[in-house]
Order: sequence, then C-alpha cells, then structure tokens
Amino acid sequence: IEIVGAPVLTEKNEQNGVVLVFHDITELKRVEEMRKDFVANVSHELKTPITSIRGFAETILEDDFEDKAVAQQFVNIILKESTRLQALIHDLLELSKLEKEEMKLSQKRIDVDDWISGIITIAEQQAEQKSIHFESSIESGISFYGDPDHMQQVLLNLMNNAMSYTKENGEVSLSIRDEANDIVISVRDTGIGIPEEAVQRIFERFYRVDRARSRHTGGTGLGLAIVKHIVEAHNGRIHVESTLNEGSTFIIYIPKKL
Ligand code: ADP
Repeated sequence: IEIVGAPVLTEKNEQNGVVLVFHDITELKRVEEMRKDFVANVSHELKTPITSIRGFAETILEDDFEDKAVAQQFVNIILKESTRLQALIHDLLELSKLEKEEMKLSQKRIDVDDWISGIITIAEQQAEQKSIHFESSIESGISFYGDPDHMQQVLLNLMNNAMSYTKENGEVSLSIRDEANDIVISVRDTGIGIPEEAVQRIFERFYRVDRARSRHTGGTGLGLAIVKHIVEAHNGRIHVESTLNEGSTFIIYIPKKL
C-alpha cells in the first residue's frame, strides 16, 4: 500500500488535521512482477537453444571429423534447435498480436463440417505417424460465430498436445456438438495425464509439468496460453479433466451467437 499525506489547514493557516490517501498498489505491483517474470522467462527460453546451436556449430568448426556420421548428428541437433527457436518466436508473436488485436478477431459464421475437415486430415496423419488411434465425432450441420483461423489454431494446439502426451497405441478423440447455447468442442486422450496440482497452472505462459519432456516434444510452453486467450476472446470457457497416467480431456464451450 502506498500512503500519501497532506495537512488540512484552517482559514488562519493553522493545522487542524491530516488527509491520508491510501493507494492499493498490489495489483500494479503484481502486473509489474508478471511482466518482469515474462521477460526473464523469454530470455531463458531463447538462450537455451542458442547456446546449444553455438556449441555444436563451434565443435563442428574446430574438430576434424573423421566420422562424418558424428558431424551429421551435430547438424541435426542444430536443425532441431533452430526449429524450436522458430516455433517459440512464432508463438510469442502470436500471443502479442492476440493481446493487441483481441477486439479485431473476425466474427464470421463458421460451418463446422467444412471448417474442421482440414484439422481432421492433419490429425489423421499425425496419429498414423505416432501409431495412435484417432477418432472424431462431429455433429453435422452445426455452426457458430467466430474467427475461423484462430479457432483452428485452438484445435491444432489441443490436438498437438493430445498426440504429444500420449504414448504409442493410445487413443485421441475429437468431438464437436451443439449443446443449448454453446458449441462444445472436446479433445480427449489416453495419455500421461496431468497431476492435480498442475491443472490450474498449465495455461500459464511457459508452465510445463515436465520441462524435459516438453523440450523433447518440441513444445514452446505457450500453446495453452494461446488457446485460453483465443477462447476467452470468443467469450468462451475452457475446462480440463485429467487423471494421472490415464489421460486428459480439454472441453471448450463457445457461445453460438455473437
Ligand atoms: P507445451 O509446449 O509444453 O506442450 P502447452 O502450453 O501446450 O506447452 O502445455 C503446457 C503443459 O501442460 C505441457 O508442458 C504439459 O506438461 C501439459 N499438457 C498439456 N496438454 C497435455 C495433455 N494432453 N496431456 C498431458 N499433459 C498436457
């Protein structure tokens, strides 16, 4: 709390009291702390791949590789880390644009059948590559109003996570249905699940349950922060149910009408 004080004077300039103004600056402080944390996190997230890229590039330059396979392995790491950097920068820009353009999201009528078909094709390919069983159940003939590209991003991020955090032979399913005033989108997986104490935090920027695993899958730690932002910009809600070692379900409710 910040306190500002001033004397209260009578007409004869004698002091007969004091005015104290209490400013509650906890909210301001909190926002400032969050901003500082964010900058520190971004710097750390950028530094890690760059350090690794520099290290491997220098080693390749300095060493005289007899074994070409080793050099090739190093170049592959450089490539992988550059791809991570690119994804990270993409997601950071996406978040910053969303914060600025929240009001400018387009509000078009989205016919679910057409809108979802590309996502299903991508999901089927991903599932095949990872030997995961994928199923979808889309109520036909339904529609809602929103920003089709951003809402596709939401689906892609959730499906990506479902596939990344599910082991071989697991299942991922997508369902979209019409329920009262909302369109309900649910993405379910039989993957590793999320510990109870972490469920509240997974929408925070850069929060990961298992940092090493997320790095391994190439995640940026921003996917769910972006999802939450877009859903809320559509006046929607997102809800998570998860059991450790059994799987997770992400459910989104988007109002059908503007
Ligand atoms: P990341 O790039 O790390 O996947 P996200 O913001 O998409 O970042 O997700 C944040 C964290 O939430 C992940 O690191 C992971 O720990 C957890 N998570 C997200 N989706 C799932 C899921 N379907 N199953 C298990 N854990 C998940």
